[in-house]
Amino acid sequence: MKRWSPTLAGALLALGAAAQAAHAQDPAGPTAATVARRAVPNPIVAPRDFQRAVSRGTRTITGAPGPRYWQQRADYRIRATVDAAAKTLTGSETITYHNRSPDTLRIVWLQLMQNVHQAEAPRNEEAEVTGGYRFTRVAAGGQPVPESEDLRSGSGYAVDFTRMAIRPASPVLPGDSVRLELDWSYKIPQAGAGARMGHSRDNLLYLAYWYPQMAVYDDVVGWQTDPFLGAAEFYMGYGSYEYTVDAPEGWVVMGTGNLTNPERVLPADVLQRWRRAAQSDTPVRVLGAGGFGAGKATLRGANGRLQWTFRADSVRDVAFSMTRESNWDAARTPVGVRNGDGRTDYVLIQSLWRATAPRWANMVKYSQQSITHHSGFTGVRYPWPHMTAVEGEEIMGGGMEYPMMTLIGPYNAQGDTALYSVTAHELGHMWFPMIIGVDERRYGWMDEGTTNFNENEAFNDFYRGAPNAHLREQRQYVSFVNNVGDPELLRWTDLQQPNLSGFASYTKPATLLSALRGLLGEETFMRTYRNYARTWAFKHPKPWDFFNAFNAGAGRNLDWFWSTWYKEAWTLDQALGSVTSGGANTVITVEDRGSAPMPARLLVTRQDGTTERREIPVETWLGGARSATVSVPRGGSPVVRVEIDPTSSFPDVDRANNVWTR
Ligand SMILES: [Zn+2]
Repeated sequence: MKRWSPTLAGALLALGAAAQAAHAQDPAGPTAATVARRAVPNPIVAPRDFQRAVSRGTRTITGAPGPRYWQQRADYRIRATVDAAAKTLTGSETITYHNRSPDTLRIVWLQLMQNVHQAEAPRNEEAEVTGGYRFTRVAAGGQPVPESEDLRSGSGYAVDFTRMAIRPASPVLPGDSVRLELDWSYKIPQAGAGARMGHSRDNLLYLAYWYPQMAVYDDVVGWQTDPFLGAAEFYMGYGSYEYTVDAPEGWVVMGTGNLTNPERVLPADVLQRWRRAAQSDTPVRVLGAGGFGAGKATLRGANGRLQWTFRADSVRDVAFSMTRESNWDAARTPVGVRNGDGRTDYVLIQSLWRATAPRWANMVKYSQQSITHHSGFTGVRYPWPHMTAVEGEEIMGGGMEYPMMTLIGPYNAQGDTALYSVTAHELGHMWFPMIIGVDERRYGWMDEGTTNFNENEAFNDFYRGAPNAHLREQRQYVSFVNNVGDPELLRWTDLQQPNLSGFASYTKPATLLSALRGLLGEETFMRTYRNYARTWAFKHPKPWDFFNAFNAGAGRNLDWFWSTWYKEAWTLDQALGSVTSGGANTVITVEDRGSAPMPARLLVTRQDGTTERREIPVETWLGGARSATVSVPRGGSPVVRVEIDPTSSFPDVDRANNVWTR
């Protein structure tokens, strides 16, 4: 999700500039306190549940899944009937849940995100009260199960707001599966599930978090049943879906997966333009917003209704939109070669937007570049048939991601660049967390931080010659840390202080990926990053897998880096002390005034313009030093300038003291 807005960051930047000016006037020489022995980072110790997974062989200490790695699978069949006027959704759902774990499951857990809209539901954001789910049938293994207060014996089900437990009549054995059947209905909130779904202006519905979904049972934590409170996002397992949306005729439905019956819902001319778009590199207007008259946008249906059926495999969720007044633009974009046949694969790019959002005329272009770029940068080719962006003014202002689908605000006021950026961001989420299935509920930074990093990379590609987006992110990091605070990233997302939570999920971890890239160098970083993405595609990496993957890729233990930046909230402030010439050398003193140890990379410039590089290795600081010296030969042209970290690779919180000039 993209809700942690540039507006806030802009205000912080202004604050940051003032604070830095004040800093610069400080006579910040070394004091007794700064030369005293410093704290050094401890090794990262994975929690016991992760260590147990390593000893059982489902995880490793090299960052790859273990030889005994397993994960669950669920296959969904859902029929959803939408009353577009009354704004209700009625569903009939069958889940076949496959237990691939070595454990016997007496109870299975589901997530009921819509129940965040129950009156008494615990929440960390405000939410409209719609009442949530009303169940008319719950069955397991073909047997109806009653609602029950006590699931310790006998079959039954219990609902605890956004969590549902079902105890089938017999346990689900390893290698076995259970069929769950649920019939339900609820009132669709206007801006629901934390402004991630809902309806707008009687011409748009966007359904997400719309059906009872299996909670994840994984090899590390077992059932992950943390409730949905509104803020922290989602952890979902993989599976297949076949779902049918029963909608009034005249409404165009688009959703995650392949539309399997287009000729039964779309008129021949619309269908023909849609198929042409799939072969076109430039946008084709499949349907204009004014073209939704009776029988024009869709076929006529029996009793005025049509059934749209979608099928998706290897996805962790499905969402769908319904519109009766949107422009529908589409084209294709290349994603590289997915398999060994040497032929470039293409993906259908779609945009559904209302005339009130004119900047969306560029959306297909933005989406084409984003999907193509992310496919190359991550090394994981976009695996699905389409990517569809839906304009959702009144439901949301920012953007929200779902497999193959995104919902984004109009961005009329924020401008074209902001609309591009949010698009590159939401489409970046197709990789993290849609393909690389991280637990966002606990570790938002594994999802949002990585996605901000990928967004910045795409931005630099789209706006060649514009100021570097990674450096902009780093400046936002610095001003936030200097003015607001600094969160510990391993703290679970819902447990972050509210004012630090967005920063913990987005800016800090994105900045740290850039720092890691600077630390390891481009080649090692990119090889490791892509390897991590490919290795964990359609699986569930934990923070320690990420750390271990980079330790392995770097060929050295980086615990000092993980501990400093992810476990602790330490900051980097390296400063130039003195530069003195005497004898044969010019001696440069670097002071480490912050708490984060990082290598100090120096660029030394002489009067004749020649330059030399020196580095104080991180081991110097890890050994407890607060200051260190390097020297260059004094002979020849005098040293006129020394700069620490001239490429701004690392997030130094006071760059004013990084430069010495004669
Ligand atoms: Zn996001």
